Amino acid sequence: MDAGAVAMDSEDGKSYSSRKEMWLQEAGEDAETSRDPDLNKKDEWYQNGIKYWTGVEATVDGVLGGYGNVSSWDVMESDRFLLDVLSECMPDYVRGNRHLVALDCGAGVGRVTKQLLLRHFHEVDLVEPVQHFLETARRDLKSHILESNVIQDHSLHRVVNFFATPLQNFTPEPNRYDVIWVQWCIGHLTDQDFVTFFLRAKVGLKPDGLFVLKENVSKCVSWSCRFSSGQSR
Ligand code: SAH
Repeated sequence: MDAGAVAMDSEDGKSYSSRKEMWLQEAGEDAETSRDPDLNKKDEWYQNGIKYWTGVEATVDGVLGGYGNVSSWDVMESDRFLLDVLSECMPDYVRGNRHLVALDCGAGVGRVTKQLLLRHFHEVDLVEPVQHFLETARRDLKSHILESNVIQDHSLHRVVNFFATPLQNFTPEPNRYDVIWVQWCIGHLTDQDFVTFFLRAKVGLKPDGLFVLKENVSKCVSWSCRFSSGQSR
């Protein structure tokens, strides 16, 4: 979003004249100059995020904000995408002779891991800061061992690590992951923290590893941006 655009705060409908102003007021961060942030404001930003999810039931419907019914469609499309991209970028994957490891970021109750990542990856790690989500994922997935049926490989696939931490504080083990998957949670990070997480994630990837970011992009926001910055629709 450009500096002259309007950014909306969907929680209470406040609007700002620029992305810079929004981050400054909401999280005490000057996204353009990288000046030291107001740490109290930033803390408050992250605590509000955790507070919100702490009040949400630890189910697929809960983490999807009442839209649990979209989960199977979402997984089906992601599955197609993963098959395409892994086949193209990692020829060893198709032959079934590559040991694959994935990281599920902002994993919630482990929906993406259980329904998607474990089908493709021998090992999956989860990162999730909300305790009751991670505990639910742990209960459900600790002994969930899947025999892959996607490719010519019948080895066992399982979850290895459950990291109880937010992404802004998480540093992946160097060179561990074939895919780092971030879905429907990156909006919790400020712009600066996203960029620094992205750089740390790069170190966590194998040399031909992939960073996947799946998020919704709202058309309404971009329309109002163009409208309010004086351009025609
Ligand atoms: N990716 C999961 C969950 C999406 S809901 C899925 O698609 O099913 C958004 C998730 O982001 C919640 O689990 C929430 O606890 C998590 N979250 C909130 N703040 C976060 C942060 N700072 N870092 C990482 N995850 C965060």
